[in-house]
Amino acid sequence: MAIIGAGPSGAWAACCLARGGARVALIDPTHPREKPCGGGVTGRALALVAGALDVDRLPACVIRSARFTRAGLGEAAVVPLENRDSASRSLIVASRADFDGLLLAAARDAGAEVIAARVTDVAADRRGFLVATSGREVYAARVIGADGANSLVRRRLAQPFGRAELSIATGYFAHGVTSDEIVIELVADPPGYLWSFPRPTHLAIGICAQADAGATATALRARTADWMRATDVANGARLEPYSWPIPSLTARGFEALTVAGPGWLLAGDAAGLVDPITREGIYFALLSGWWAADAILSGTADPSRRYEDRVRDEIVSELARAARFKGRFFHPRFTRLLMDALHHSAQIRAVMADLVAGRQSYAGLKWRLATTLDAGLAWSVWRTSRTR
Ligand SMILES: Cc1cc2nc3c(=O)[nH]c(=O)nc-3n(C[C@H](O)[C@H](O)[C@H](O)COP(=O)(O)OP(=O)(O)OC[C@H]3O[C@@H](n4cnc5c(N)ncnc54)[C@H](O)[C@@H]3O)c2cc1C
Repeated sequence: MAIIGAGPSGAWAACCLARGGARVALIDPTHPREKPCGGGVTGRALALVAGALDVDRLPACVIRSARFTRAGLGEAAVVPLENRDSASRSLIVASRADFDGLLLAAARDAGAEVIAARVTDVAADRRGFLVATSGREVYAARVIGADGANSLVRRRLAQPFGRAELSIATGYFAHGVTSDEIVIELVADPPGYLWSFPRPTHLAIGICAQADAGATATALRARTADWMRATDVANGARLEPYSWPIPSLTARGFEALTVAGPGWLLAGDAAGLVDPITREGIYFALLSGWWAADAILSGTADPSRRYEDRVRDEIVSELARAARFKGRFFHPRFTRLLMDALHHSAQIRAVMADLVAGRQSYAGLKWRLATTLDAGLAWSVWRTSRTR
């Protein structure tokens, strides 16, 4: 078994497979490395790996609150996040060098062979796959493509993502500043949000826009810099710029999504499994890595089919719902109502806390919003979410 890419999806798949007795080669040349990312790890993501990782030893900021703002709308609304004990944490923020490093160590300790080489080609033949690397060649009966948004495995064995299925995330690591609060400014153009996520030694600050929306990475970074100046969120910090793509599929893109084929499986970003509203991807990377391993270890004749069915039924359906809701969620009328409700309603603050922590499904979101708001606001939200 060859796994290409040792981010959360690949390292966790390797760990689960090796623990299940499979022979695994995990191929990635980049560790130790930082990855351009907020580094927000939700409680549900932590719960997946808690049995294999000593998450209390992970250098991370435990986030106590989320501060929501909206340009031109005065005061921020502060949403407290639950953190009674390590098992109930809503959100931590970690450097990806540290988080991914722990996952890689867990995979190695479980018995996976880690090969520090770049994969340059993957070719299928009748018996399996020839994986060419910058070092030696590896022959494997099956491959898992866990090589991120620009996945070579996806490009060789399926279709690459088009521009309409990607967003550009860009911003700065602000070194020497930290906090225990995330800051989220809802913006209408490009529809989405600016964020500041504190890690132990720096802030990860950024903005994200669909790649086909016309905004360049340079323009988006300038927008981030303006916001940093206006809010003073990174006062005096040493700034290190970054840019990176995130799969951000439309509902139609999710309907047509391919995540596996004969002998091969895609996981995490390579499979397109990122929430198009919150851009949470780490949880789906870990979950799909685990399910890819589980399908292979199950001994079924067609693990790819088993994996694809499970991902489609339990992840893609929920992410497609998010994609359908996205245009309304960031619509100025909706965000104005939302900010108002966040100020006045403890119940709406609880809904947002659950959304940030990954505890609120999109299937129940509209209903929960409508039933927790007062009648007038509920009617407005209902109408806003129907127009567009
Ligand atoms: C700016 C930004 C902010 C984000 N913030 C958050 C957040 O706060 N919380 C959250 O949950 N998600 C966030 N995401 C999404 C999250 O980063 C991804 O969803 C997650 O990293 C996916 O994990 P993965 O293992 O699938 O891929 P990756 O983490 O991208 O790992 C892929 C690995 O494959 C390796 N690789 C690539 N090509 C090859 C090759 N040819 N040969 C060998 N190895 C290769 C790479 O070196 C890399 O180590 C953010 C993304 C961005 C860009």
